[in-house]
Amino acid sequence: MSGQVGAGLAPAHGGQPQGVAPTWLDAEDLRWAARHWATRIGVRLREVHIRPMTTKWASMSTAGRLTLNSDLLALPRATGEYVIVHELVHLLAPNHGKVFKSFMAAYLPDWEERERSLNEGGGHIPSGG
Ligand SMILES: [Zn+2]
Repeated sequence: MSGQVGAGLAPAHGGQPQGVAPTWLDAEDLRWAARHWATRIGVRLREVHIRPMTTKWASMSTAGRLTLNSDLLALPRATGEYVIVHELVHLLAPNHGKVFKSFMAAYLPDWEERERSLNEGGGHIPSGG
C-alpha cells in the first residue's frame, strides 16, 4: 500500500534480512509517516518532534503537536504506525472508549495485535497519553 521503491534505489549494503519486520530508515521516515497519517485521518498536525522519552512512546497536544519517542525507530514500522495512529486518533476521541476503538479499527484493523506487540516490547501507552 505504501509503494516501496524499486531495487535500484537501495544502497548496496542496505536491505532488511528476510523474515524480519522492516524498521524505520531514520527520524525523517517516521516524521513523514506521522504527516501521512494525519492527512489520512483528517486531523491537523502542526509539529512533529522525535526525541528520547523515558515514560511513554508518544504524546499529543490538543494544539496539534506530536512528540514521538526516538526508541520507536528501532521497532517495526507496524508498531510505530500504531503509536502514531493512536496519538492522532486522540484528537478525535480524548479517551480510550468506544469511539476511540472504532476509529482505531477503521484505520488499523489489526491495531489490537500491534498494541500487544508494543506492550510485549516493554512499552506502554498510558491511558490519556
Ligand atoms: Zn491513548
